[in-house]
Amino acid sequence: MIEDLLDNNRRWATGKTAQDPGFFARLVAQQTPEYLWIGCSDSRVPANDIVGLDPGELFVHRNVANLACPSDANFLSVLQFAVEHLKVRHVIVCGHYGCGGVAAAMSGERHGLIDHWLQPIRDVADEFAEYLLRIRNEERRLAKLCEANVVAQVRNVACNPIIHDAWRREQPVCVHGWIYAVGNGLLRNLEVTIASFSDLADHFPQRLSAQLGSPCGHLHSQQF
Ligand SMILES: [Zn+2]
Repeated sequence: MIEDLLDNNRRWATGKTAQDPGFFARLVAQQTPEYLWIGCSDSRVPANDIVGLDPGELFVHRNVANLACPSDANFLSVLQFAVEHLKVRHVIVCGHYGCGGVAAAMSGERHGLIDHWLQPIRDVADEFAEYLLRIRNEERRLAKLCEANVVAQVRNVACNPIIHDAWRREQPVCVHGWIYAVGNGLLRNLEVTIASFSDLADHFPQRLSAQLGSPCGHLHSQQF
């Protein structure tokens, strides 16, 4: 029942106030999150809950399949506000196994408007096709594509001029790639963190290849 949600809300607010009488008054004054979360809209991946953060501690952007497309004005606005105004220190791109968006992108079926949105995932699949096609088990291949999609979105964020401008003015901001397992509630760090121009230039291609377990030479020579 929809009214249950409003009842839940009243209980939650009352509980928060009982725990910490100044909690909401502090939030009204300002938000000072240190983290920007770029995650999937999937209802099984509630950002604040899975990292144990309260309101005010995580700036959240979610869309189908956790994409960070350089042509998406919504994402760009969020990134600019988070980096330039909130001065977040960490941008976390978080994907998840069993992502319906990733599966839909690869299904070969028509789904409507979402097919346009999901095109970047097909691009990632093409980019890493040489490696992905070696995985015979379809579930495992999709799981690896979920990981590759996170890595590709980390690269998108780390290549964004908003991040580059922050680094140029020596504002610390790290971009991380994580993946969440709906089946056990655990996050995994994909170890593709980018914190500087030198990370981007010197280390990222190698870490990308290591993460994907790919011996493909073209990944090493890819320009980021
Ligand atoms: Zn998803």
